[in-house]
Amino acid sequence: MDQIKLDNLYKNSIILDHCRNPRNYLPISKIDFSGSAVNPFCGDEIHFNLKLNDQTIIEEVAFEGDGCAINLASGSIISEHIKGMSIESVGKFTETFRLDMQTNHLKSFDCKSEIFVLYDVRSFPIRIKCALLSVSALENLH
Ligand code: ZN
Repeated sequence: MDQIKLDNLYKNSIILDHCRNPRNYLPISKIDFSGSAVNPFCGDEIHFNLKLNDQTIIEEVAFEGDGCAINLASGSIISEHIKGMSIESVGKFTETFRLDMQTNHLKSFDCKSEIFVLYDVRSFPIRIKCALLSVSALENLH
């Protein structure tokens, strides 16, 4: 039963699309902040590079990832989500999303946001770490 639900999650068209065509998967011209995270248990890896404009708004994002579909889709979706955000608000975003993912009732993002699709991962506690690896990478920005 759970395997069927997990298969459905992998077949979710948004997840699939982000895995097959990851967004922002290209190097950027200038790097102001970088952050990485690795999960040694399953081999998932995420790396973000960010370029800010002079108002400290994230103007360009480059992400690279390795590992499972949830990790890659999450990296791609989140790379789109943070584009145009101020660097200060990334901290608020990671805090909110991590809290949402670790509880079953919170949903701070509405269904019009692609972040919303990642809430389905909460039905598979072992995969929550995969969806949150991007968040860990953004928490390590320097
Ligand atoms: Zn994974």
